Amino acid sequence: MQRPQTIPRTMHAMLLDAPHTPLRLAEIPVPTPIPGQVLLRVEACGVCHTDLHIVDGELNQPKLPLVLGHQIVGTVAALGNGVQHFQIGDRVGVPWLGWTDGDCPACRRGQENLCAHAKFTGYDLDGGFAEYAAADHRYCFPIPAAASPVATAPLLCAGLIGYRTYRMAGERVERLGLYGFGAAAHIVTQVAKFNGQQVYAFTRPGDTAAQDFALRMGADWAGDSTVAPPEPLDAALIFAPVGALVVEALRHTRPGGTVVCGGIHMSDIPAFPYHLLWEERVVRSVANLTRQDGEEFLALASRVPVRTDVTIFALEKTGQALNRLRAGEMTGAAVVTIG
Ligand SMILES: [Zn+2]
Ligand SMILES: [Zn+2]
Repeated sequence: MQRPQTIPRTMHAMLLDAPHTPLRLAEIPVPTPIPGQVLLRVEACGVCHTDLHIVDGELNQPKLPLVLGHQIVGTVAALGNGVQHFQIGDRVGVPWLGWTDGDCPACRRGQENLCAHAKFTGYDLDGGFAEYAAADHRYCFPIPAAASPVATAPLLCAGLIGYRTYRMAGERVERLGLYGFGAAAHIVTQVAKFNGQQVYAFTRPGDTAAQDFALRMGADWAGDSTVAPPEPLDAALIFAPVGALVVEALRHTRPGGTVVCGGIHMSDIPAFPYHLLWEERVVRSVANLTRQDGEEFLALASRVPVRTDVTIFALEKTGQALNRLRAGEMTGAAVVTIG
C-alpha cells in the first residue's frame, strides 16, 4: 500500500470493551488497509440507534474491543493494493454494510443486504468513532468534495435505511405515518414531501418538542403515538424500537396498507386481534441496505435536496451523544466530528 508520511502510527478512538460499559477514549494503532481497503481520515460519523443496541447488549455478537460508528464521512488517506475508483484525497461515505461474500444464495438473488456472511461497519468491523478507519472500497460511496461532512453523515444510515424502509411502503401511498421522529424520520419526511405525499408524525406521548420539530421539517400533522391520525394511513413506517407501535400503526392503516419496521431491534410485539391484520394489511421488516439503495438514495437526496438537522459532539463526547439518544432527548441527528 501507499502510506504517506503524514499518517501517524497511533490514533484516538472511542472503544467499546464490553456491552453495558461506557465507551472509553483510547490510543490505538492506525489501521493498515489490507488489499481492497482504503484508509480514511474520518471527518464526521453519525450516531445511530443501532450503536445503542450494541452498547446495550441487544445486538450481542460484536467484535470486541470495538470502534462503533457506521455513518462515516472521511477522505482517503492511503490505498490498499487493488483499490480502483478512489484516489488519495477523495471524500467518501461508509455505511453499515461493510462487506459481503458475493456468493451465498442471498447475494446471488441480488439481496446482499441479507448475505449470510455479511460484515457490518461498527459491529463486525471497526467503525468511525476514531481519527482513522479502514473500509473496503467496494462498499464506499463517493461524496462530493463540496459536501458538508457533518450534514452528510446522517444520510449514510438514517437516510439510507430510512429510504429503504420508505420504499417498502410500496406505491400508491398518499398518507404516510412515521412512528418515532428522529434522524431517519426527519429525512424521510423531506423525501415524502418531495414526492407530494402527506406525512403524519407520531412521537412519544407528550413529546411536544419532537412534534414541533416534525412540523418544522414539513410534516402535515404531528401527535402522540397513542392517538388516531385525522385520516387513515396508506402506510406506516416504524423507526422507534417499540413493538407496541406495530399494533398502533395497524389500527390506523387502511385495508391493503403496509406497516414497515425499519429498525434492527425492537421490543416484543404484543398479541393483537386478527381483524387488525385482516383485509390484506401487511407487516414487514427491513434489514440493512444494498449498495444500490445507497446510490439511489444519495442521488435522490441531492435532488430533494435533503437538509439534515444535526447536533455535533466531539469524539470524546460520543458516549454523551449515545446517552441523549437513549433518553429520547435528541431532535434530528447526532454527529461526532473528528479533528
Ligand atoms: Zn452473501
Ligand atoms: Zn444505523
